[in-house]
Amino acid sequence: MKIARLETFDTPFVCFVKVTADTGDVGWGQTSTYQADITAEVFHRQVAPHALGTEVADLDDTLRRVYEREHKFPGSYLRRAQAGLDTAVWDLRGKVAGKPVVSLLGGTPGRVRAYASSMKRDITPEDEAARFLRLRDAHGFDAFKWRVGAEVGRDRDEWPGRTEAVIPIVSKALGDKVEKLVDGNSCYSPAKAIEVGRMLEDHGIGHFEEPCPYWEVDQTAEVRAALNIDVAGGEQDCEFTAWQLAIEHKAVDILQPDILYLGGLCRTLEVCRMGQAAGLPITPHAANLGLVTMCTMHLLRAIPNPGKYLEFSIEGPDYYPWQEGLFRNDPYRIEDGHATVTDAPGWGVEINPDWLARARHRVSERS
Ligand SMILES: [Mg+2]
Repeated sequence: MKIARLETFDTPFVCFVKVTADTGDVGWGQTSTYQADITAEVFHRQVAPHALGTEVADLDDTLRRVYEREHKFPGSYLRRAQAGLDTAVWDLRGKVAGKPVVSLLGGTPGRVRAYASSMKRDITPEDEAARFLRLRDAHGFDAFKWRVGAEVGRDRDEWPGRTEAVIPIVSKALGDKVEKLVDGNSCYSPAKAIEVGRMLEDHGIGHFEEPCPYWEVDQTAEVRAALNIDVAGGEQDCEFTAWQLAIEHKAVDILQPDILYLGGLCRTLEVCRMGQAAGLPITPHAANLGLVTMCTMHLLRAIPNPGKYLEFSIEGPDYYPWQEGLFRNDPYRIEDGHATVTDAPGWGVEINPDWLARARHRVSERS
């Protein structure tokens, strides 16, 4: 079975990829979000030409050949575009086999514990605590993540005093029976990160994500060595060299690959193996309810070293207007704090035809 046709449907936020085999079988995937219209261009210029005509069974090798042929272009855009090919082919494989992707990976469908993940900083500590309690009561979440500092903030806060307030206020509101995580989004110098980290330790928060600029591996390692709580990171890293460095330098306790930033499931499985060899768990980054969260659900039920939970964005139309109406079915229901991987073939999602009809459509096929 060979790849005969590759189509993209894009907006500046989302780009779905449709792969059609020479048998007529079809699969759907997604490139990573944001600047997705640019990623679609990269897809047709630098990914599709190397993939058309290749065997569906040879996906790993095809992705490596894309890397080799485009070796002058390391970094994010090519990986984001490759993720569209990878995830579409995995969906195709699942549909042909009549199995969910998780089963192709050796796992089983079923429930995945989720943590409620806030993306907001322009929210007061009181409002953040109140919406967490509403979500706990409505959906049974027993783990929550909120944000401290300012994004890539050079030690600044979102506004003066917010971090010192949001840590105790949200932590106290949630009480003792809930797991608590915070994200620094590359805000801090090591000294400030350690100071904030001590505050987290004092308030029962067990996960400190991306405390320092993510590219400063030794700074993150310094923070990890100084603190008792888990330091997590890796969401931006899309090259294996960055993962090797983070692991060798013992920068983090928890690896957080983003399946779509990293270039798809095949490359993420490689990072999971690197983590397994180093004795590290995988708690992937999945910051919106596009396809990335579904891919992450399948992954977590298949790998030997999953972290404790799935990242599950709690943001709605006010924050992520572009994620409305992507899917015709409702794949992201949370019950008792868990999402569910069904036994539907492939990824188990149905992309909304109305959304596709409004997107820009482009085609690459064998000439
Ligand atoms: Mg993060």
